[in-house]
Amino acid sequence: MGRFEESEWIWHEGQFIKWHDATVHILSTVVQFGSSVFEGIRCYDTRDGPAIFRLPEHLKRLRNSCRIYRIELAHTDSDLIKACCGVVRRNTLASCYIRPMVMRGYGAMAMDGTESPIETYIPAWEWGTYLGDDALAKGVDVCVSSWNRAAPNTFPGMAKSTGHYNNAQLIKLEAMANGFVEAIALAPDGTISEGSGQNTFAVMDGSLVTPSIGGSNLSGITRNAVITIAGDLDIPCREMVMPRELLYCADELFFSGTAAEITPIRSVDHIEIGAVGMGPITRRIQERFREITSGAANSDHGWLTRVA
Ligand code: PMP
Repeated sequence: MGRFEESEWIWHEGQFIKWHDATVHILSTVVQFGSSVFEGIRCYDTRDGPAIFRLPEHLKRLRNSCRIYRIELAHTDSDLIKACCGVVRRNTLASCYIRPMVMRGYGAMAMDGTESPIETYIPAWEWGTYLGDDALAKGVDVCVSSWNRAAPNTFPGMAKSTGHYNNAQLIKLEAMANGFVEAIALAPDGTISEGSGQNTFAVMDGSLVTPSIGGSNLSGITRNAVITIAGDLDIPCREMVMPRELLYCADELFFSGTAAEITPIRSVDHIEIGAVGMGPITRRIQERFREITSGAANSDHGWLTRVA
């Protein structure tokens, strides 16, 4: 994983506190039972200054994660937009990663945590490329995980909750132990779900395909951006149930995610993908994504929130 730089300030309930003062008690409900929801958002250094990518969409997903877990979020979207922009400004960051977190804090020992206060923190820090320096240009070698994603109606796939990332860690740690940077996990029915922290796309005969949102994968905001960009570029795109073996037969494969952005996949289980390295459709999507996030595109769909 790329290096990170500590920042100085973290937003906490309307105040800025020092990075190292953002601590919680070990008996907080979040520490004992993983009760927190969060977002991962990128701020890009555009030619018009720092701009946050798809901030309202991320805040909407945060709010939905709270609803699913019955966590009352005390802040309005407009307060959270100000807070996210504020934490970037206060730390004088240009490009960074923003991680709003809403958690059940310290106050109750009972597992439900409803007696514990709900606390919101927003850290932001500089972060390098997620899957290694060459990943965006040359692609990554991945495997299919022996771990499945959680079944629908167990851990709710539409919620981005800390607890769910124990499953993601199993997937990622096993992949790394076997010499891969990342894995693609299957849904309980054996069809393709997603990576530990990114969605998956395949190119088949000139069309993009991606697994439907079926309760085991996250409805990625970058995934949605790829579908929209494909529409702009007249590349057909379909959401469908995808059998595992499609991974070995695809002309191109790539990951999409806030951290991974558009990362080509070079091989799966040591089987090379049709277009080794970056295929032509992946390249077009990646280029348009870069154009938008750098602030250079004619139309960015209103996806950038300027910080200044
Ligand atoms: N799946 C999982 C499990 C993730 O953690 C992420 C990262 N948030 C994604 C997919 C990609 O989602 P997004 O494009 O919104 O970052």
